[in-house]
Amino acid sequence: MIKPFMPQLVYFEPKALDYPLGKRLKEKFEKLGVEIRYTTSHNQVRNLPGENDFQKYRVAKSTLVVGIRKTLTFDSSKPSAEYAIPLATGCMGHCHYCYLQTTMGSKPYIRTYVNVDEILEQAEKYIQERAPKITRFEASCTSDIVGIDHLTHSLKQAIEYFGQSEYGKLRFVTKFHHVDHLLDANHQGNTRFRFSVNADYVIKNFEPGTSPLPKRIEAARKVADADYPLGFIVAPIYLHEGWKEGYRKLFEQLEGELPMHAKKGLTFELIQHRFTKPAKRVIQKNYPMTKLELEETKRRYKWGRYGIGKYVYQQKEEEEIKTTLSSYIERLFPQATIEYFT
Ligand code: SF4
Repeated sequence: MIKPFMPQLVYFEPKALDYPLGKRLKEKFEKLGVEIRYTTSHNQVRNLPGENDFQKYRVAKSTLVVGIRKTLTFDSSKPSAEYAIPLATGCMGHCHYCYLQTTMGSKPYIRTYVNVDEILEQAEKYIQERAPKITRFEASCTSDIVGIDHLTHSLKQAIEYFGQSEYGKLRFVTKFHHVDHLLDANHQGNTRFRFSVNADYVIKNFEPGTSPLPKRIEAARKVADADYPLGFIVAPIYLHEGWKEGYRKLFEQLEGELPMHAKKGLTFELIQHRFTKPAKRVIQKNYPMTKLELEETKRRYKWGRYGIGKYVYQQKEEEEIKTTLSSYIERLFPQATIEYFT
């Protein structure tokens, strides 16, 4: 059983202490006896303990930088939402395939932003621009936000903010089961709480440092009992020996363990495995023993954002993945919606 995340080392940017959350976090970590350092900017977070890159990478993943979010222009977040809302970046998980390997390869430490009010004010501007159309915000584009929220409660604040919003909706996904503090948040049904799930083979081989599947499902049950709209993201869908059976078992397990009321209005998002060239370099450096298949010639190249193309499965394989998984979902969860396959 995986314990809630606790950083080994915490950095504070100077202005962070002007905010109540920054002060609270400083007191908390002082009491807990966590090593605290000060830095003018997260870019100065160097000299992390460790004898080589491999060790430094692991230390970075358990280092928290408490700072201010300066860029208040939100990225778009297709296909799951209109915008990415930046409450934190980085993650303590060690999923080999993680999409953060592309975006944060050189800065794997975790950053949390204490100017939550300003971030929410900015979200409000985006909501107003589009009103009366609904605007959805994805809170897990740059981190597994649930995994650190037991320390900061900034996600909880956002959930309650969107609970009061007429045209704004929040969503996020997690591989962690530490959800208890979010169960009593006044969400008003405006937040979709999703869990990332996968076939046993993928979780065992590629997701160290995250909660085991039974724990995620147990947390999903609690979330459904707290009346949150619930969803599952199956990602990355990864071809391996026995994959059809592996994914069938996954959906059967979900079907068997979720209460009836949780199955109504349930959503699924399906994302096939992909990698980029920069991510491949980071993965091979930091997880040199990984079994993850990263062979460009076996894949199909797709143009991506910021000019970084990605390697996805061949068209035929893609079709097979889509029809196989969709058929399981349609059979076992007739009341659920598949939001997209990508
Ligand atoms: Fe990346 Fe999510 Fe795994 Fe964290 S839990 S390492 S964000 S894939």
